[in-house]
Amino acid sequence: MSLQDTTARIAKAEANADRSAGSVKLIAVSKVQPDDRVQAVLEQGHRCFGENRVQEAAGKWPGFRDRFDGIDLHLIGPLQTNKARQAMELCNAIHSVDRPKLANTLARLAQEIGSCPDLFIQVNTGEEDQKAGILPADADGFVAECQALDLPVRGLMCIPPVDEEPSLHFALLAKIAARNGLPGLSMGMSSDFEQAIALGATHVRVGSAIFGERVRPQE
Ligand SMILES: *Cc1c(COP(=O)(O)O)cnc(C)c1O
Repeated sequence: MSLQDTTARIAKAEANADRSAGSVKLIAVSKVQPDDRVQAVLEQGHRCFGENRVQEAAGKWPGFRDRFDGIDLHLIGPLQTNKARQAMELCNAIHSVDRPKLANTLARLAQEIGSCPDLFIQVNTGEEDQKAGILPADADGFVAECQALDLPVRGLMCIPPVDEEPSLHFALLAKIAARNGLPGLSMGMSSDFEQAIALGATHVRVGSAIFGERVRPQE
């Protein structure tokens, strides 16, 4: 369990899937991890990180950015419209675009700010009530809506239900992305990133396999 171990497993999964080395981006999910663990990974040269709360990211990353160049920060958790500006100013990518109201807010702010992070549309592939994401049946329409707003949609993201075979969800996400001409697939976590890579993941979001178990659970 370490950065090195995870990057080696990714390289192997890329090779097994006949994909080119380095085609999968590792987002090291640092939410609720103590700063010393995050710093250790930065010191090993890794620069791409994921947080799922804007407030936590805002407390942690400006300080690391003062000390380390080239940090690539991805928001992977739900985003409220009243935090959208802060998220856009802080993050290089947002993986949780999941509803028209948020898309409209991001489009308006992008005009104002003059730039926009890379965006991923979250799809609720398991159609779970408690989970964020656009329903699969509404995904094509929502992708078109975001593109009509000139938003930089790079791909799709999903979080499979905990009690189901993740591969079915990864395959569904890949299918929706392909028919919409979207190259990016943000899928795969500590327990299933190799399966996600086999099904075309371009971004894997891995926390505990790199940093160890989270010290306090996610609220
Ligand atoms: C926490 C989290 C992850 C990482 O989970 P691990 O099981 O620790 O790898 C990935 N994606 C999202 C959206 C998360 O909230």
